[in-house]
Amino acid sequence: MKCEKLLALLNDYIDGDVQPGICAELEQHLASCNPCHVVVDTVRKTITLYKAGQPYELPPGFRDRLHAELRARWKQSKPGSPSENRG
Ligand SMILES: [Zn+2]
Repeated sequence: MKCEKLLALLNDYIDGDVQPGICAELEQHLASCNPCHVVVDTVRKTITLYKAGQPYELPPGFRDRLHAELRARWKQSKPGSPSENRG
């Protein structure tokens, strides 16, 4: 599974609405991909806060922020991307 696919499934996963087989794949990815692990953990906490006060609904732009966050973490964990080779 790729990070992008994990992101696409993230809402369903956190809502407990992912098929068992996919869920296993997803958790396997999380175990080996620290950035995704951190993101899922963060999202879980965020949603818990939201659930406490109002119906479960991700705010507008949340997904975009999530992607931006994930990209930033990828850069941190995988320095030296081929397209950025200034020296
Ligand atoms: Zn990942």
